[in-house]
Amino acid sequence: MTAPPKTIVFDLDGTLVDSLPDIIASFQYALESLKLPVPSDAEVRALVGLPLEDMYAHFAPDHVPELCAIYREYYPRNFVKRSRPFPGAVELLRTLRERGYTLAIATTKRTDMARRFVEALGLTSALDHIQGTDGFPHKPAPDVIQRALAALGSEGLWMVGDTTHDILAGRAAGLRTYAVTWGNHGPDELATAKPDEIQADLSRLLEHLPARA
Ligand SMILES: [Mg+2]
Repeated sequence: MTAPPKTIVFDLDGTLVDSLPDIIASFQYALESLKLPVPSDAEVRALVGLPLEDMYAHFAPDHVPELCAIYREYYPRNFVKRSRPFPGAVELLRTLRERGYTLAIATTKRTDMARRFVEALGLTSALDHIQGTDGFPHKPAPDVIQRALAALGSEGLWMVGDTTHDILAGRAAGLRTYAVTWGNHGPDELATAKPDEIQADLSRLLEHLPARA
């Protein structure tokens, strides 16, 4: 009998991929195109990680469906203008694969959008499963992580993310949690969610995950 796969689950935006500038620009474009007030980069950034509907509801509650439709048409045509994997991210995925782990994405993006984004960045072959949030509770609920693990028939070991939502979701799904400090939440905010690790690089994750026998 072979042991079930062991999976490391990653958030996408702000964790593996520096995608913020394209997200913010697309978010602002939709408001601008409806001649609505456009929030600053910092104001948008503060809400990134929430579902798109919630983000737009914060600025223009009467126009959420139109704004989401514009964003979803515009963003995929512009989502890799400036977005790139963070330094070391691709190498980390390769090393973990070589060590015998399966790798999944659990993102608040919808699955179709997440797959197109990962494909455009050339990361599809580095991952075993890409799970978006398609009409069920988003992080910090554990659902997106649980669905990724169910799709792979695997046991989850670690959740890696850049916000408290990722950490709370990971713990609720029964995983250990690794917070990275280069994304949307700083170390102090991340600490409030009590992750197992808060790190400015990925070396500790590799220490926790030796090659599988
Ligand atoms: Mg994130």
